[in-house]
Amino acid sequence: MILWALLLACQDGAQVFLSEEEAVKIVFRHGEKVVRRELLLPVEVHAAVEDRLKRRVENRYRSFVEIRNGEATGVALITDEVTKTLTMTFIVGVDLQGRVIDVAVLEHREKIGADSAKRKFLDQLLGKTLRDPIRRKKDMLHVVGATMSCDAVMRGTRKVLAVVQEYFLDRPENLHAIVQEADPVVQQRYGMGSLCTITAYGPKAAVEQALDDVRRWDGILSNYLEESELSQLNRERSLHPSTDLTAFLRDCRKYSDLSDGAFDVTVAPLVDLWGFRNRKYRVPSSAEIEATLRKIGRDHVVFENGSVRLIDGTTLDPGAIGKGFAVDRAVEILKKAGVNSAFVDFGSSVFGLGTPPGEEGWRVAIRDPFQKERVLGSLRLKDASVSTSGNYEKFFEVDGRKYGHILDPRTGIPVEGVASVSVLASTATASDAFSTAIFVGGLDLARRAGVEALWIPADPNAEPRMTDGWVPE
Ligand code: AMP
Ligand code: MG
Repeated sequence: MILWALLLACQDGAQVFLSEEEAVKIVFRHGEKVVRRELLLPVEVHAAVEDRLKRRVENRYRSFVEIRNGEATGVALITDEVTKTLTMTFIVGVDLQGRVIDVAVLEHREKIGADSAKRKFLDQLLGKTLRDPIRRKKDMLHVVGATMSCDAVMRGTRKVLAVVQEYFLDRPENLHAIVQEADPVVQQRYGMGSLCTITAYGPKAAVEQALDDVRRWDGILSNYLEESELSQLNRERSLHPSTDLTAFLRDCRKYSDLSDGAFDVTVAPLVDLWGFRNRKYRVPSSAEIEATLRKIGRDHVVFENGSVRLIDGTTLDPGAIGKGFAVDRAVEILKKAGVNSAFVDFGSSVFGLGTPPGEEGWRVAIRDPFQKERVLGSLRLKDASVSTSGNYEKFFEVDGRKYGHILDPRTGIPVEGVASVSVLASTATASDAFSTAIFVGGLDLARRAGVEALWIPADPNAEPRMTDGWVPE
């Protein structure tokens, strides 16, 4: 049996000559940078290619664009052609004048004919254009014993020349877009009280669209802009919410439930009472706290008959979840636009979409809450988010006691004993809501909720605590 298998393996003439990476290096010897793209030909381009070649060809190719000094200098496609019954795979590089730069065979699968991969044959293709026949007995000599494979390479070369002509050379905007995407686009916009920065390997238009949306969400969720829908609800106590506001309020309810009320968007009356909203800080009396606590609770946001109503005098504060929520919406827009590598940085909440080219994830530094320039460690994000809640920026002191801006909605009092909490989760909404919730409810909440967290106590001499899955580099 074993002998048989060996014999069969030997008879099988399949040969792998080059990996994709090696093939690209042969074609683009001087390339400073090569951008890889899965190419799906638009219907009209596909039709034009078939019309030129007078035969049917596939509409998907692995494409590579060579860039030097910020300009495209060549295009290569990796493609297959049938030899006898099996396919062979090869790369054809073309310069911007439509001339073959080089051709190389990656894989030959048929038992015979692998000699078509030899330089003696392939070198004849250099400099060929669509005006050349590229045919046996015309301008090409084939290798004896490899006729079908040589024919396949010649056919495939003409195919690549036609695709490059139609998609890249006749439509230079396609080439231009790829050159632009070779370096990441970095754009910033101010919203929700901080700067949002998006770094993306993708079209600028997509990044602009995502940032516009962050601004749009600020216009819906802000509790500082009077005309926002959330402010309107706070004022009028009841309205027919947009689908956007509904989606946001549903998420608020979800994370309140998941955190047993440690995170609660109805905490606003307490935030006001302690003066955190208008920075007129004061320590209220316990009677005032008692009275305010009666206004608060996740059940005080009531959905009925298509409207939403705030009861018992509650109001909403989006501060603990709004940025994370907006980050997720921005990520959705980037993804829809075909971007699969981006970093959305909204200060306290960040999201790493995919990975930067050649790396395992987007690196984020976790800062020391006692010394913001010091980095405690870093994490690599791949389709994941980190948010941090801290007491170091918004707090006031009375009689040596520090009061921070994160309040326990169950006691009505600012949380003490915590300096900062960072949470790693699959969405920014979750990491943002839970960073606040765990600040209030402690690390056990992270374990119950299935998120990873780093909990740093207010006492700089005490040790930080973390969940098992929190593994900084
Ligand atoms: P973050 O920095 O994400 O933890 O959000 C903190 C902000 O959310 C505060 O400045 C308040 O406006 C608001 N907030 C404070 N405590 C809570 C809480 N327990 N649940 C929801 N929001 C809160
Ligand atoms: Mg938060």
